[in-house]
Amino acid sequence: MDSYGTAYGVINPGKDFKVVIEAHADEISWFVNHISKEGFIYVIRNGGSDHVIAPSKRVNIHTEKGIVRGVFGWPAIHTRSGKDANLNPALENIFIDVGAKNRDEVLKMGIHVGCVITYGSTLEILNDRYYVGRALDNRIGGFCIAEVARLLKEKKKKLPYSLYIVNAVQEEIGLRGAEMIAHRIKPDAAIITDVTHDTTTPMINTNKHGETECGKGPSLTYAPAVHNILRDLIIKTAETKKIPFQRAASSRSTGTDTDAFAYSNAGVPSALISLPLRYMHTTVEMAHKDDVENLTKLIYESLLKIESGHNFKYF
Ligand SMILES: [Zn+2]
Repeated sequence: MDSYGTAYGVINPGKDFKVVIEAHADEISWFVNHISKEGFIYVIRNGGSDHVIAPSKRVNIHTEKGIVRGVFGWPAIHTRSGKDANLNPALENIFIDVGAKNRDEVLKMGIHVGCVITYGSTLEILNDRYYVGRALDNRIGGFCIAEVARLLKEKKKKLPYSLYIVNAVQEEIGLRGAEMIAHRIKPDAAIITDVTHDTTTPMINTNKHGETECGKGPSLTYAPAVHNILRDLIIKTAETKKIPFQRAASSRSTGTDTDAFAYSNAGVPSALISLPLRYMHTTVEMAHKDDVENLTKLIYESLLKIESGHNFKYF
C-alpha cells in the first residue's frame, strides 16, 4: 500500500517491463462542514455527490467512536407552499438529522467538522440480471481486476512482464491516487477500468452524450489520452475472442484515471475499458452481469496479447 492508501499487488515481480491494470477504490461521500446550534449537520461534497438525491436518505457518519446513523431530512410537501413551492435540494440547504437536541449533543456523539458521511445502502440483484447498489463506481472495477488476477492464476498463465493490479484512491476528487501510484510504479503500459454512463435511460441526450447501453458489452474510448495501439490491441482481442464491445469518444479528458496514467512520467501508453452503468453517483447504480463478465474477460485476454518490450511507437 502507498502512503495515501492505494493498494496494489504484483504478479511476476521484478521484470523490466511493467503493465498496470487499474480501478479506483474510493467512493463519493460527504464531509461534515457545519453543525448548527440546533444540532443539524450541513455538508460539503467529497467528490461528485449529488445534492438532488440526498433528502430522505439514511447515512453513516464515520467517527472515532464508530458509525453514527443519521438521515437527510426534508420539509414535508404540506409545508412547501407559496414562495417555497418550488424548493429544491441544494448543497446549501440539505442537512442531516442525527436525533440530537443541539450542537453539544452532536459533538458528544463523536461527530465533528471533517467527519466523512456515506450512504448505508447495500448490494441487491434485480431480475437476476443487474447488480444494484451504491459505489459500483468503481468497486465493481476492483472486483473485475481481482478476477483477472484469479483467472491468470487458475489458468496457470505465465506473463512475460510484471503485472501490477492497482486499486487507487482519490479518483473522485481528481485522479490523485492514480497520479501518485503512476509515479511510483512507472509502468510501460496501463489498462484502466472505470464505469461509464448508460445513456439509454430516460432524460439523457444521446446526441450529446453518445449511445452506450448496459448489456451490450464493455465500452472502448477514443480520446487523446488513450493510446491508439493499445486500444486497437484490445479491440482486436475482443473481435477474435468474440467479446461484445461498444465505442465511445471523449474530446479532451476521459475523466478517469486513464488521464493520470497517460500523462505521468514521460507518457505511459494507456487505454480505458469502461463498464456501462445506470444512475451513476446515486445509491441505485446498476450494472449488467454480462458486462461485468465480458469486461473481465476482455482485460484478461488483452493482457495475454501484450509482449515484454511491446512496441507502442506510432511510426
Ligand atoms: Zn464516480
